Amino acid sequence: MITAEAVIDLAALKHNIKVLSMHQPHSKMIAVVKGNAYGHGGSHVAHALSSFVDSFAVARFDEACQLREYGITQPIVLLEGCFDQTETQEAARLGFQPVVQNDQQIHWLEQLDGQYRINLWLKVDTGMHRLGFHLEQVRSRHQHLCKLPVMDQYVGFVSHLSCADESGNIQTDRQLQRFNHVTEGLVGPRSLANSAALLTRPDICFDKARPGIALYGVTPFAGHCGEENGLKAVMTLRSKLIAIRTHQCGEPVGYSGLWHASRETMIGVVAMGYGDGYPRTMPTGTPIQVNGRIVPLVGRVSMDMLTVDLGPDASDHIGDEVILWGPTNPVEPIAERVGTIGYELLIQLTNRVKRSYI
Ligand code: PLP
Repeated sequence: MITAEAVIDLAALKHNIKVLSMHQPHSKMIAVVKGNAYGHGGSHVAHALSSFVDSFAVARFDEACQLREYGITQPIVLLEGCFDQTETQEAARLGFQPVVQNDQQIHWLEQLDGQYRINLWLKVDTGMHRLGFHLEQVRSRHQHLCKLPVMDQYVGFVSHLSCADESGNIQTDRQLQRFNHVTEGLVGPRSLANSAALLTRPDICFDKARPGIALYGVTPFAGHCGEENGLKAVMTLRSKLIAIRTHQCGEPVGYSGLWHASRETMIGVVAMGYGDGYPRTMPTGTPIQVNGRIVPLVGRVSMDMLTVDLGPDASDHIGDEVILWGPTNPVEPIAERVGTIGYELLIQLTNRVKRSYI
């Protein structure tokens, strides 16, 4: 069968959570598995991680429900404070932990009678300035939430770092200082670190850390690869050669004839296109691994296929394996070629790409 496939290495995933836990041995881990576990498959990833982490975090209410349907029993944090009134009661019943980020949500929580009790997180705006309570609101909102009948054991504090992936950016220190200051003397678990902070800032070590991208072996730092932090890429995106064609010097290939061969060569056609989530804008020269060697992408990526220059002496065959990214062809520099980050390439793979697990 010729189909694009994302092979997910669950041993690599477990290796990564152990590496991250060693960075902050005093923090419990909230594994961020939103976006179908950054494209890796929420069910398999959550089950593989469940004995290594304290809880899970997702962005949307439906994602949390799905994890329950998959049989995940641990607490699930609704990370982005994205829930409405009808979902509030359901969240309590299903053991979700909403991040409360505005007064309307507090009002909805006030309506609950305490039939189901719930742990909550208060979103503190320390400098991202997208969601959360201003510093001067935190104390009063926290005290209020702690008194609600629905409150179970705690109302924790969560804030999100805007520049932790830029080493030396003083915004991180500013946010850390504000977080420390505003939560001082208040009771409840605290969580600030994302992957970037976990990997580089041992001083940002609170009760719980929230790694996402690093779980999947990909670095949050521009110009680097996860391997430099001892991480292993979890996903190998692979497909196959579906045609190998002789190609004349000077002839173009593909839509718009963007690329012309400067010598006679062999063109390999790969079953991978923007219909699979591989960006149409990926430029000529992007590294693609065919039979263990790196060859350049040439011409425009189509919906269902792309073309590579196999070179004049190629001895490849139809059906041979092609690796678009993975441990031997890291996703980070490939993402940079289209002006984006590994996160986006991983998460935008479409359902046409079969996920398989090893
Ligand atoms: N915490 C919050 C609030 C987030 O929104 C995210 C991801 O966007 C994370 C943690 C995980 O971030 P990262 O994938 O960079 O580790």
